[in-house]
Amino acid sequence: MPRALITGITGQDGFYLSEHLLAQGYEVYGLIRGQANPKLQIIERTLPDVRIVEGDLLDQASLMNAVQKVKPDEVYNLAAISFVMLSWNQPELTGEITGLGALRMLEAIRLTTGASSSRSKSGAGIRFYQASSSEMFGKVRETPQSETTPFHPRSPYGVAKAYAHYITVNYRESYGIHACSGILFNHESPKRGPEFVSRKITLAAARIKLGLQKELLLGDIEPRRDWGYAGDYVRAMHLMLKAKKPDDYVIGTGETHQVKDFARLAFGRLGLNWEDHVRTDPQFIRPAEVDLLIADASKAKKELGWKPDVSFRQLVEMMVDADLAQESKLSAASA
Ligand code: NAP
Repeated sequence: MPRALITGITGQDGFYLSEHLLAQGYEVYGLIRGQANPKLQIIERTLPDVRIVEGDLLDQASLMNAVQKVKPDEVYNLAAISFVMLSWNQPELTGEITGLGALRMLEAIRLTTGASSSRSKSGAGIRFYQASSSEMFGKVRETPQSETTPFHPRSPYGVAKAYAHYITVNYRESYGIHACSGILFNHESPKRGPEFVSRKITLAAARIKLGLQKELLLGDIEPRRDWGYAGDYVRAMHLMLKAKKPDDYVIGTGETHQVKDFARLAFGRLGLNWEDHVRTDPQFIRPAEVDLLIADASKAKKELGWKPDVSFRQLVEMMVDADLAQESKLSAASA
């Protein structure tokens, strides 16, 4: 039975990746940080087959212990401070977790398996996936963006991800580790954190429909994003680690929509006009914006046979429907 260790198990992608790998017959271990992490109960309830191991991306020894204990075939490094706005408020912590955290996990693999140099062709046994991000493209140099597009990150998050990306490439080239980096464009689901704009919109639309909220305050509604479904994207992560040769891949839909398009569809699903309820508020505007992100995922399509199944409209409707069901249940329970 293949064994996977996932950091960021309590996040959106950790959930979908665990579900996917369990269905593929994997033994899945999730790294959990902190004392009495409240999200542990959610994991135990929703993913009872996932085993838990303690560790923190800020603590090298804990990662070594986790790797030694689990003896994984594959490590997926999904943990990060992943909310771009927060990275301006906590840039140093973002650098430590989102950037150096990847290095610590790679070191845990290298030191545990004794990978020494690419000349030894050791391959180090453990395959490694790094969750890179389209935010590394930032002030985009070309459109659409592919694996060869230069990076110009526009936030402390994007800068930290660029470091983690290059250290992954470097460990592949230096130590022969099967290390891959997935440059993923925005992907969403009903499990997306409520601080992210997609979920903020679908949650607000549901609450406004139920009379629980009056308006929705957003930052800039003009930027364009390439939004896909998280369940489709975790398949790509797995395909990268199953491929013969480690490499980096852009993963996205190749379609772009403005934030206001997302709002129009979400409110429209509930028979509401978004313009009656959405207001922009400067406090949510990023100090430096990423204007137009759109993926050229042709390499992943050609080499991994990956393509997304869920359309933009299906994604928005799935999220609105889930939030309407959740909020109706919560308001009925409190009535
Ligand atoms: P998420 O929901 O924000 O989850 C982040 C995870 O990181 C949580 O499980 C959190 O655990 C964990 N974490 C934070 N600090 C940690 C630390 N010091 N040690 C160990 N774990 C720590 O993120 P996501 O949306 O699933 O995304 C997964 C990864 O893909 C992230 O690296 C993200 O930056 C990247 N990515 C996401 C997208 C997207 O659109 N979703 C696009 C490109 C790249 P706690 O429960 O302990 O807080």
